[in-house]
Amino acid sequence: MPSYIKEFLKAEKPEGYYEALVESLHKANREYNAFNVIDENVGQSGNAMPFSTKSNICVKGVETTAGSKMLKGYIPPFNATVVERLLDSGRFAFIGETNMDEFGFGTFGVNAALPARNAFDKNYVAGGSSSGAAVATAMLKYHVALAVSTGGSISAPAALNGVVGFTPTYGTVSRYGLIDYANSLDKIGVMARNSDDARIVFDAMRGGDGKDLTCAVGNIGSKKKKKLFVIEELDRYADKTVRANFSGLLDRLSAKYDIETRNIGALDVAVEAYYILAMAEASTNLARYDGYKYGLQLKDLATRYNEFFTEARANFGEEAKRRILLGTFIRSESVKAKYYTKAARIRAIIIKRMGELLKEGFIVSPAFPMQTPKISEVERLTPVQTYATDIFTVPPNLGGFPHITFPYHYQDGMPMGAQIIGEHANDYALIDFVGEWEGEFDYRYKHNIGSL
Ligand code: GLN
Repeated sequence: MPSYIKEFLKAEKPEGYYEALVESLHKANREYNAFNVIDENVGQSGNAMPFSTKSNICVKGVETTAGSKMLKGYIPPFNATVVERLLDSGRFAFIGETNMDEFGFGTFGVNAALPARNAFDKNYVAGGSSSGAAVATAMLKYHVALAVSTGGSISAPAALNGVVGFTPTYGTVSRYGLIDYANSLDKIGVMARNSDDARIVFDAMRGGDGKDLTCAVGNIGSKKKKKLFVIEELDRYADKTVRANFSGLLDRLSAKYDIETRNIGALDVAVEAYYILAMAEASTNLARYDGYKYGLQLKDLATRYNEFFTEARANFGEEAKRRILLGTFIRSESVKAKYYTKAARIRAIIIKRMGELLKEGFIVSPAFPMQTPKISEVERLTPVQTYATDIFTVPPNLGGFPHITFPYHYQDGMPMGAQIIGEHANDYALIDFVGEWEGEFDYRYKHNIGSL
């Protein structure tokens, strides 16, 4: 599939193109809530492809809240490195910030003030936590989205909205200017309408950064593999429809790849390990929002400390509060060995075993274990039921392995996505894989806002 970025940069734009784009976007946004901020100045950058940022990536002069009331009114005085690099390249123009679950805590987008809605049907969830990024990508013809994944927030919403979602190897893209969720897991990636565009954006933003010393992976390879592995212990977590469709995909892929089923023996506890580690890190990151220096500023400094602190911390949403409590508990001295240390050990085992398998081939799976649920259905799920839906996206995120999601089937009009995982620093091979697939499979879109 040809790159929309290249096509757009070459194309003549009709007079008033950007003004009309902003207007249509506002109109669509009233129905879909994809954007928290739409930038009226997008046309002033000359000939440049519109890009959006998830609302936890700092953009100079633009209110950046990470979807939280706690950061209402926060206007960063600087750009995140990824934003700076895209703008510096001269090929990209900022179009707005996208909706998300508060601080990245969620899988469906419903932990946002106003949930984003699925681009294929408004009654269905958009996925999360980068919900708006996926909806925006599915709605806008010429646009790419910067999104963030800690445990699956690029794969899940990309899959549910039928777009390509690429999460690079941990440490290839600078996190400077990202509002942290869990530092050892957070990765900035891309959503796009095709693999070529994901590659162009990845190339424009990756590479060492003196402002983030964990960004240290420089050489990215494109080692092709002949083998695809299906993970036995994960198989049973997919519902009947997903399993049937995914098996159809494997049939098609078996024309070009050897497909083998393997057991890693640790991935069925990956979700538990992930939530322990992610909550432990999240609770330390959220400690800074105390209403004095960081977070919604409380004016009344005459109140006593406990009341002041309680009032400030009341601005967190329900899921954030849950994670602060659980994360703080997990880190406490009396239970640390039982939870945190054990989870860290499971993570190490997963990295080792997946790493060994990924030397031989790619791992392939559905991106999401069930058909897209309705917003009303998700609101009835317990937190643990919600966490369980991350079963396919958590393993590569825990391991820092690059992974990419692509649409492969449409069930009752809704897209379904599959996910390919590769070894560390073999990111281009995954993008190439999806590029080959796109040669044979047509992606569908319901909206084409901004088409020329
Ligand atoms: N659903 C997972 C969580 O809530 C992952 C979210 C993410 O990657 N930000 O933690």
